[in-house]
Amino acid sequence: MRASDLDLKELLQFDPDGGILRFANERVLLLDAVALGLLRRELIELLGASGARAVLTRFGYAHGWRTAENLRSGLPWDSEDEWRHAGGRLHTLQGLVRVESPGPREGPKLIGDSIWRDSYEAEQHLLHLGPSDEPVCWTLTGFASGYLSRAYDTEIYCLEERCRGKGDACCRLVGRTREDWGDAIAPHLPYYEKASLDAALSQVTSELRQVERRLRAGRRKTRPGGRSHPSGLILESPAMERVLDVARRVAQVDSTVLLTGESGVGKERVARLIHDESARAGGPFVAINCGAVPENLLESELFGHVRGSFTGATQDRVGLFEAANSGTILLDEIGEVPPSMQVKLLRALQERQIRRVGENRNRAVNARVLAATNRNLVEEIRGARFRQDLYYRLRVVEIEIPPLRERREDILPLARSFVVAAASRTGRTVTGFTPAAAHQLLRYPWPGNVRELENALERAVVLTRRSRVDVEDLPAEVGLAVPDAVVATDVRPLADVERDYIRSVLRAVGGNRTQAAAQLGIGAATLYRKLKQYGTDGS
Ligand code: ZN
Repeated sequence: MRASDLDLKELLQFDPDGGILRFANERVLLLDAVALGLLRRELIELLGASGARAVLTRFGYAHGWRTAENLRSGLPWDSEDEWRHAGGRLHTLQGLVRVESPGPREGPKLIGDSIWRDSYEAEQHLLHLGPSDEPVCWTLTGFASGYLSRAYDTEIYCLEERCRGKGDACCRLVGRTREDWGDAIAPHLPYYEKASLDAALSQVTSELRQVERRLRAGRRKTRPGGRSHPSGLILESPAMERVLDVARRVAQVDSTVLLTGESGVGKERVARLIHDESARAGGPFVAINCGAVPENLLESELFGHVRGSFTGATQDRVGLFEAANSGTILLDEIGEVPPSMQVKLLRALQERQIRRVGENRNRAVNARVLAATNRNLVEEIRGARFRQDLYYRLRVVEIEIPPLRERREDILPLARSFVVAAASRTGRTVTGFTPAAAHQLLRYPWPGNVRELENALERAVVLTRRSRVDVEDLPAEVGLAVPDAVVATDVRPLADVERDYIRSVLRAVGGNRTQAAAQLGIGAATLYRKLKQYGTDGS
């Protein structure tokens, strides 16, 4: 992508009901500009203009550096240059300042060269402190310096030649390497160096560090590789990020949720996350694999029984629905529940009451119900094996968890975490895997998903004689995997496939080209050109 492709609608994620806001995947805060203006005034009063400038410059610098770092790995740039230009574009999108490119300029080419309009910083400086003798956009120049220094991997300093804060019509930013600035940069360097900060500041810094250490110690341990969610879910892929987003949102309400996906994709972990992030987190989380309980015992397992209600019922027993009171119950493999039991489950869900086996009174239950299945329940309904009313009751919200082969970005981070966990469990010193093993892990399609990956690596950690897992330590099928094989005789030229497909779409819409183009997601002109190329009018 290009810097100009950055789009506020796509970068900004928010929940209309509130909660964490993200911009380009980083948490952001909505602060009004006046609050920042007041902070600036406080800093100037406390530290003097030079001290405040130093704090705000370094703040901007660190922010710019980090932003460049995040953007580089976070988005697929067409070129390094597009990434380098993205910093300014980002500030424009965020409304901090409107970055425009100035006309051509004489002299040697500059690394940073922009006109800034509507700088929030100049505006706030004027509001709280009045016009200045010097440029005042300290965080913005700090940001530009940090961003460009990271992007060009060399020391780059940006200064304002003109600034709205000192009465100019707009701000004008110039960035050069330290070398190119020569002596001219010397008076400005102290603002980038910690030494310029007041002694009071170093005290603040050390106190902040202590707070940070305390916070870090309190936080749950994160596992290496990949972004680790507090629930222990490790993910890199946008697909799983979306799954977790929905999970977090449904956690806030009490609706029934149906989790679908192949065996081993981690449905229980997502269920656990929903529980942990819900208001019921303090209550119990109870999971039952409905497929693993014999049909005649399932009812008693779920609803409990009274003594003597059937052979072997030697005492009263509380069922899982009651055990999950004020918490969450996960009905795993819901597709395996026999029809007779489906009716009873439906009643329990509708009436929020259960009846213990052998008892003739109802008991109110307050458990949030989550269900999971690897079956296609719609197919099951068609085959009259699953009740449609129960299906609709369960899937108030449906979360589909994609198989591992559709989110390959997650394979290596997951694999790393499994190696670390298995090594610590078995007391072996295995630190990771060889590049060849990593290559095979990525090639293999993982039909058993995350669970299969975990088992394969646990086995490898136990078997290996080295400090890193190698190909031969992996199960044979993983070691031998070749990329998605295509039978040679099946291959057709892409252009043929496209032509046939376009023709069939045209037929389906009765030859209406505008409609066909819209459905294909291409422009009408493109469709005409293609039809002409095929020598067909499509009718
Ligand atoms: Zn300015």
